[in-house]
Amino acid sequence: MNVEIVNTGSELMLGRVLNTHQQWLCRRLADLGHVVTRQVAIADTGSEIQTAVREALSRADLVITTGGLGPTSDDITRELIAEMLGKKLIKNLDVLAHIENFFAKRGRPRPQKTDVETMVPEGALVFLNPTGTAPGLAIRVEPNLFRADKTPSWLVMLPGPPRELRPMFDVSIAPLVKREFADEIFVCRTLRTTGIGESRVQEMVADELQPLVQRGMEIGYCARPGAVDVRLTASGAEAVSVVQAGEAITQKVFGANVFGYDDDEIEQIVVRLFVEKKKTIALAESCTGGNIAHRLTNVPGASGIFLGSVVTYADSAKKKFLGVKPETLAAHGAVSEPVAREMALGARAKFGSDFAIAVTGIAGPSGGTPDKPVGTVFIALASALGVEVRRMQNTWDRETFKQVTAQQALDWLRLAVSA
Ligand code: ATP
Repeated sequence: MNVEIVNTGSELMLGRVLNTHQQWLCRRLADLGHVVTRQVAIADTGSEIQTAVREALSRADLVITTGGLGPTSDDITRELIAEMLGKKLIKNLDVLAHIENFFAKRGRPRPQKTDVETMVPEGALVFLNPTGTAPGLAIRVEPNLFRADKTPSWLVMLPGPPRELRPMFDVSIAPLVKREFADEIFVCRTLRTTGIGESRVQEMVADELQPLVQRGMEIGYCARPGAVDVRLTASGAEAVSVVQAGEAITQKVFGANVFGYDDDEIEQIVVRLFVEKKKTIALAESCTGGNIAHRLTNVPGASGIFLGSVVTYADSAKKKFLGVKPETLAAHGAVSEPVAREMALGARAKFGSDFAIAVTGIAGPSGGTPDKPVGTVFIALASALGVEVRRMQNTWDRETFKQVTAQQALDWLRLAVSA
């Protein structure tokens, strides 16, 4: 099956709004077994919308458009598509009642402009909007004159705002897709690795997976800050067994470097492991500016294991709150192995935690020296076993530097509590 998405909106083309529909819809459709073949984003002007939808209908079994169904002057998708398909727009009384009810509930008169939202192309399926006014629409284009063989296609039109599009897709469109298009078996499994660079990841596993590639499995590598995902996908009758075999091989090759699967984040794994082991964490953060604490506290249940963090950016704060000795700072500088060590020991003692991680580094762009260039980081881990310090070289832009350093600290906690 061939699925195409047409995202409309001049705000997308001006870079004012991030096209989240593209990612969200592709993901939902892949979960239903249908991988999107093509996606385009276009300005919401007449000719562009008609050209894009016409082209998509010439190839696809299912075309989904987003945006342009509202009441304002730039919301013209409905009219243009009806015109292109030669369908009349007819007033739909259910939509009218829904919109009147929508405004009545909010104690406001229904704006005249919403009249346009009650007009639907003849023969279209209409999906009332649970979180807004403009309905979603689906038209079976039959015969599909835009296709050489004229086989029918479905054309689905969804409203632009994500809080309207998402529930409408889940409630109305997913069932339509399941009903109209035979289930295709499509399996996607992502193994999330950390601690190994992208090219090395590929070098390590590609040959081992080659026999499965010959059986139809596809491999994707996706580098993220501090992590490389290995994505295994397959379709058809053998999909489950092929991907399972691929997962076993990948797991064996990377061992403990695999921190999770699919949508797992490392902080979720850390919280889960610490809860299981009934151990606690404290942090002393300098160059990560609270990023590690932020990530841990994004996870529900973090309060059971995370005692607290001090963001000690200045030397004075490192002395005052963590007990780092002035002579250590004077002799070695804030970004140094001995200071990281004292920060971790200080955090563990002050918070009374089982584990404490400390980070101190040079995020840049300035502040580097020949022996401590920009990107130098010391990460220290204190536990009942003592304290250990590692030196890392995270030469990235400032934001990525923080994310990668936080990832390394979290990964060390993951491995330490599992040891
Ligand atoms: P409305 O009734 O709000 O006019 P609509 O169906 O006409 O709805 P648009 O006007 O195209 O939709 O978009 C409304 C808002 O939805 C946009 O301003 C934007 O914030 C958001 N939006 C539209 N398209 C996207 C997209 N592809 N990704 C993320 N957000 C989007």
